[in-house]
Amino acid sequence: VHVKRVYNFSAGPSMLPLPVLEKAQKELVNYADSGMSVMELSHRSGLFTDIITGAEQLLRDLMNIPDNYKVLFVQGGASQQFAMVPLNLLTNSKKADYVNTGSWSKKAIKEAKKYGDVRVIASSEDENFSYIPEIDSSMIDPEADYVHITTNNTIEGTAFRNIPDTGGVPLVADMSSNILSEEIDVSKFGLIYAGAQKNIGPAGLTVVIIREDLIGGAPESCPTMLDYKTHSESGSLYNTPPTYGIYIAKLVFEWLTELGGLKEMEKINRKKAELLYDFLEQSNMFRSPVKKDSRSIMNIPFVSPSAELDAAFVKEAKAAGLETLKGHRSVGGMRASIYNAMPTEGVEALIQFMKEFEEKHAQ
Ligand code: PLP
Repeated sequence: VHVKRVYNFSAGPSMLPLPVLEKAQKELVNYADSGMSVMELSHRSGLFTDIITGAEQLLRDLMNIPDNYKVLFVQGGASQQFAMVPLNLLTNSKKADYVNTGSWSKKAIKEAKKYGDVRVIASSEDENFSYIPEIDSSMIDPEADYVHITTNNTIEGTAFRNIPDTGGVPLVADMSSNILSEEIDVSKFGLIYAGAQKNIGPAGLTVVIIREDLIGGAPESCPTMLDYKTHSESGSLYNTPPTYGIYIAKLVFEWLTELGGLKEMEKINRKKAELLYDFLEQSNMFRSPVKKDSRSIMNIPFVSPSAELDAAFVKEAKAAGLETLKGHRSVGGMRASIYNAMPTEGVEALIQFMKEFEEKHAQ
């Protein structure tokens, strides 16, 4: 049977690998001959224990997570981490340094200001967040409890090429839109967090990778569910976790592992992004608004000469099976989010469509 599938360029929730969806479909009603769906399993059952411990081990292997880091499966999205990070990590000086590289950074900064003395040490707001500012350790307050960056800026289409040296101050990263897209050195970070709905699985699950010494500093008044210690001590089973999301995440981790891990995924992602950026470079109609050395390989915004052409593009692309290409309302134009599950053929189909659109609408 032919199943209808489109190339979905949504910034999130976004595409999942087709083999993952097919496996979930096959197991939906009767998981591992239990006569139950994963959705119906007790989170304390043996079958679910195997799922959550298996998911954690796969993620540890994929990202090469050192033993002195905990992996937590929580809820509340990356937005809840905007509060949990300062609540738990502002333990000594109650000072934190943030880098402002876009809309999500701004939200993280705004939230952290509720809990401590937040300083913005660098910002690209002066140029519409179209670049990543240079950071060196001399800009960082050595007394700060942590430094926060957004490694990939989903809306603006920028990404840190190099992980800044923070001179020993713990580095916290919002990796919601580029986790698992390339190899990273986890040991350079104190804490990494990501909402699942781009490269991990369904919305509703949030992954936190935290160095053990950063756990346990939350004040008495910290709500139990917002304390990393609660989730760390209970193996993410203090209360009912998002069980189905964790199951799908495990299938995604298996898919990534079979594909060859992050080294291979990174190669594919770089190739996909290069195809699109190379096309934009020579196009007479479309261009990237992002500075070359700051470009994301996950989210690629592009603009045409007019709002009318933008609107026509999004509409005609949808009719051609290329979905959700409208840019974020704060940026305008178009944006192609090409996360791990977007096949190379999807990017090629987009480029072919752009070529034809350009010919059709040439002045
Ligand atoms: N941070 C980044 C970089 C994002 O792209 C998003 C978007 O989903 C968020 C934070 C917010 O995540 P959530 O919707 O999971 O709270």
